[in-house]
Amino acid sequence: MQFDFEEERVKKEIHSLNAKRVLIQLPEGLKPEAPRLARIVEKSGALPIVSADPCYGACDLATTDAESLGVDLIIHYGHSKMVKYERVPTIYVEARAGADITGAVQKALPLLEKWHKIGLATTVQHSQTLDAAREILVRASKTVVIGDTARASYPGQVIGCDYSNAKSIAKDVEAFLFIGGGQFHAIGVALSTSKPTVVADPFDNNAFSIDKEAVKILKQRWASVAEARRAKTFGVLVGLKPGQKKLEEALQVKQKLEDKGKAALLLAAREITPEMMLEFPSVEAYVNTACPRISLDDASKFKKPVLTINEALVVVGELSWEELCRKGLLEG
Ligand code: SF4
Repeated sequence: MQFDFEEERVKKEIHSLNAKRVLIQLPEGLKPEAPRLARIVEKSGALPIVSADPCYGACDLATTDAESLGVDLIIHYGHSKMVKYERVPTIYVEARAGADITGAVQKALPLLEKWHKIGLATTVQHSQTLDAAREILVRASKTVVIGDTARASYPGQVIGCDYSNAKSIAKDVEAFLFIGGGQFHAIGVALSTSKPTVVADPFDNNAFSIDKEAVKILKQRWASVAEARRAKTFGVLVGLKPGQKKLEEALQVKQKLEDKGKAALLLAAREITPEMMLEFPSVEAYVNTACPRISLDDASKFKKPVLTINEALVVVGELSWEELCRKGLLEG
């Protein structure tokens, strides 16, 4: 699969910023490109250092690492800008995918047969394809709506923890078509909008419904909330990655739990893992104020409930389960 690494722009930016030491940050799937991208930086006159740590989103900008390494430019690949202010000059290379979406969208048409009004959603890698997808759907006599709340960088774009574009049009459509690979973002669309969601995967040139997987996750979340209701001692997880740190929300959750007679311990972490939790055997349930997808997607790895902030509000009685489902599991 070809991704656009914008090599000419990278060279120009290195020259114009007169960067001498550059930190290259790549998500897991793009790390194999690191040696080639490092050579481009080197040929542009700067010393490349590749961050080998995991990077799951633009929330995870390696600012602190860049500062400690004396880096004067971060090149962050694979995501659009998320952190408002960067302490170290940063350029984002979104790595747009070159995949043709036509076949996958055409395969999605029979799966969308029952519905007339279709919402479109995608990731940054395919955001340039929405006009072409719209055209195919319109030719099939569909009405197409694309959300644009300006919270994400592009119309129709969704991020693992931000579905505001899709949510903003959920009332106007009967189903969603998600353009992109895998299940991760499509499940987010289904859970955030409660609408039938079909995936057109241009990487596999395939289309499928994600609804069964979304229902499975919903049932699993309900079980976690029910178990957490019985817990007396909670760990409130505070993310240390720049775009994940929600200390204020964590303090509020702690207070709400204590008001209900629960004990609540604040735990700060960069990576939230089952191994880390083994060190706190007296904690019976966690509230995760960092990346909400850890709660949803990694649930089977954790031995104890790891709730999102909204799910914690159900535990303290501020939201009913039905209200939570309407509000969405992922966003506050
Ligand atoms: S917080 Fe999680 S879902 Fe949101 S961008 Fe970061 S890694 Fe992705």
